Amino acid sequence: MLNINSITKGIVIDHIKPGYGIMIFEYLKLDKADFTVALIMNATSKKYGRKDIIKIENELDIDLAMLGFIDPNITVNIIENEKITEKINLSLPDRVESIIECKNPRCITSVERGITHKFVLIDEDKGIYKCEYCDQIYSWEG
Ligand SMILES: [Zn+2]
Repeated sequence: MLNINSITKGIVIDHIKPGYGIMIFEYLKLDKADFTVALIMNATSKKYGRKDIIKIENELDIDLAMLGFIDPNITVNIIENEKITEKINLSLPDRVESIIECKNPRCITSVERGITHKFVLIDEDKGIYKCEYCDQIYSWEG
């Protein structure tokens, strides 16, 4: 087991679904970070069996909506002076912009260029979004 538990100041992204850690790592461009980062894959979790964890020894502005869209079960811990000062439980965001694209060929976002793709969450349990322009359904599959 790697001993990288002590972060003085930074962020720990916990309870990531196994296999999703690398995706989030790359999404946050942590592979290009000039501060200390750690990606832990397949850690043992009491709650989920296995999980990925990302530790970031830096302050970082994270798009929590995007992160929640990738994996709504994630917990984001803010660390200061080696203690968790804030624990944020993510969920599917109510709205997503420029993340998913409408597949309806007749939608204005398909017909015209440069329009922001916008989706609104209409069923949180099932993870169903609809396009704000044409009501096309997008089903989230985690
Ligand atoms: Zn649409």
